[in-house]
This record gives sequence, C-alpha cells and structure tokens, in this order.
Amino acid sequence: MRAQCSECGHINSNNRVSQSAFICRNCGVVAHADRNASHNIARKGEAAWTAGRESRVPATP
Ligand SMILES: [Zn+2]
Repeated sequence: MRAQCSECGHINSNNRVSQSAFICRNCGVVAHADRNASHNIARKGEAAWTAGRESRVPATP
C-alpha cells in the first residue's frame, strides 16, 4: 500500500514495514504508522482551511 512520509513527502510502499511501524526510506524518520498518517491528514486539512479563507463569493455591486 502507499505510505507517505509526513516529514519529507516521500512515497514508497516499503516505508510501511508493518501494520503499525513506519520508516521512511528517503529521510529515515521512524514513526508509528497511524501517527505519521495523521500528520499527512493534518497538512491536507490545513491547506484546505487556508484556501477556504479567501472568499470566492463575487462582490455585490
Ligand atoms: Zn521521509
């Protein structure tokens, strides 16, 4: 399965060495797999939140 490093963004199925362990083959970070995944989700959520702060509603004359 795809596993993305929350530190460097490297994606490699070999990063996920077991159900619970994550070791990045690029930068060497060691983390619990679910904790690493939560960082990835948090980053996506923050990006969506930041983008949503700019209103797309057209200005009324
Ligand atoms: Zn990494």
